[in-house]
Amino acid sequence: MTTFCAEAQNEKQQSVPEIAFTVSLPKPHTHMLDVEMRVTRGVSQQVPKEELLVMPAWTPGSYLIREFERHVQDFTATDASGQPLKWEKINKDSWRITTNGSRDWRAAYRVYANELSVRTNEVNSEHAFWNNAALLMYLEGFLSSPSTLHVLAPQPWKVATGLPSAPGQKNTFRADNFDILYDSPVEVSNFKTLSFEVKGVPHRIVIDGEGNYDPEKMRVDVKKIVETEVELMGGEVPYHDYTFILHLRSNAGGGLEHLNSTALGYPSFGFKPERSDGVNSAAPGASPQRTYQGFLSLVAHEFFHLWNVKRIRPDALGPFDYTEENYTRLLWVAEGITDYYARLVLRRAGLISENEFLSENAKVFQNLQNTPGRLVMSVEEASFDTWIKYYRQDENSVNSQVDYYDKGAILGLLLDLEVRRQSRGAKSLDDVMRYLYTGFYKKNRNYTPHDFQQAFELMAGSSLEQFFANYVRGREEFDYDSALAAAGLRLDKTAATDGSKAVEKAYLGADLAQEGDRLLVKKVYAGAPAYEQGLNTGDQIIALNNTRTNKDFLDARLAEKRPGDLVTLTIFRSDNLSTLLIKLGGRVNAVYRIVPVDNSTKEEKRIYQAWLGASGTK
Ligand SMILES: [Zn+2]
Repeated sequence: MTTFCAEAQNEKQQSVPEIAFTVSLPKPHTHMLDVEMRVTRGVSQQVPKEELLVMPAWTPGSYLIREFERHVQDFTATDASGQPLKWEKINKDSWRITTNGSRDWRAAYRVYANELSVRTNEVNSEHAFWNNAALLMYLEGFLSSPSTLHVLAPQPWKVATGLPSAPGQKNTFRADNFDILYDSPVEVSNFKTLSFEVKGVPHRIVIDGEGNYDPEKMRVDVKKIVETEVELMGGEVPYHDYTFILHLRSNAGGGLEHLNSTALGYPSFGFKPERSDGVNSAAPGASPQRTYQGFLSLVAHEFFHLWNVKRIRPDALGPFDYTEENYTRLLWVAEGITDYYARLVLRRAGLISENEFLSENAKVFQNLQNTPGRLVMSVEEASFDTWIKYYRQDENSVNSQVDYYDKGAILGLLLDLEVRRQSRGAKSLDDVMRYLYTGFYKKNRNYTPHDFQQAFELMAGSSLEQFFANYVRGREEFDYDSALAAAGLRLDKTAATDGSKAVEKAYLGADLAQEGDRLLVKKVYAGAPAYEQGLNTGDQIIALNNTRTNKDFLDARLAEKRPGDLVTLTIFRSDNLSTLLIKLGGRVNAVYRIVPVDNSTKEEKRIYQAWLGASGTK
């Protein structure tokens, strides 16, 4: 750094206040987190008469206005001598304090914390976890301020966060600005730690809760994922250390990405079996399964985000506005392409087989094709409207929305194969991601939808305008076969789940669930016989052809029917009894599989090997 820069830096530092937070949890069983926020200014700094404290309304990575301010209570403000300062709320998330020009003042408040998820806060007698965006206020106009966070942890609990420690101060951490502060969740408990290094950089898995996992295996496999992703992105480790915070609870699930950490939830006993039983869960009648591979896939997804979304940033995603929606058309890239890589990385790390990779992708294809909403909404529209659609789903969502994770992952696969085909194997999606990393992140630029398409065209060596118009901005049906042909593969829909020849079966077109003694309609698919002939979500089915029924009985009797047969369903809709006459439709009970074509060329075999083969790293 030159002298000039150092001076400029000093000036900048002096123009922003120093902000110091102390978080304590004197009575964990009451679920209260106590926050003290101290704001100090130097003698040369301008001091305003009034200041505004704001609580974020959402947290990056989870695109819903959550109004974290609703958990705030017992707010006070005082000057350095402890004298109360006047304050008033001016809207739901902002507190205006009359500081009267005080250079040193503080606010204190408490936050109710009784919801464990990767984006919220929980403190109880077992542990504390919080997301700083859901706990700490910022001083309006000073999101660029550095801050410190001091945690008063009850003995013998430890503190884990991705923030660097402040030298010489126990349980005190520092953040260069509020985007970094809000990006760093905190776990306080008697957690277990698994550690490893990659390229000399320390990584740790901090585990709170019990489960049926094998710690050594988890340590080794997570390390493989980290190594594979670092290589994929060019070999540079862009952080000083990395922390995985893992909560194991019977009902836990999900992950949230950060610059040098991630918060993960997984079912305590979801680590066995090792792998799925091979049944395509998108096939009719199948249900999803928790497995060790599912856990690894979650790790691979969240870890890949440290590049894709946290550093390779879509237009509107960082720096953030914490008070309202931040709109982007690129979540299909941020989430979908990350999901594609989660599977590809497991394959490259040798943690799943080629067949497992292909069958996982076939499942996603089938999920999409079972979603009527794919013809109603594009992935760009799905990304843009996530705040009011994807994060607020209802019974109509399957008919009006497309999942940008699933369709984005398919686009990742198809674009990867397209670039490999057009460049005759010289380039791949990896080159696109590395290009975005060096050409945008390294130059401190966010990328736009146009930049993303251009990056692909650069690697493919030709225009992809038609592809993006049809499948990204548009809602055209995918041509899976011609895309898969690049690697000598095709989509097969001729076999049923058990391997027998697929045949047309009677089809109602509704998802049903047995809840106690009630058989309820959970979802009705647009265009299906149930939808067209009047069955509604929420209906309770009492009888089939005048015989009392539950789900097992209904499934068994419908399996005996043929397409075109008539049945009666007696239902309660709200409190009213009625009977519907329904003509069943037909649907082939095929399970999607990706299989080799009969005669693949040398070139296709080469592309396949580079993509998925044991030595494939391109
Ligand atoms: Zn994600």
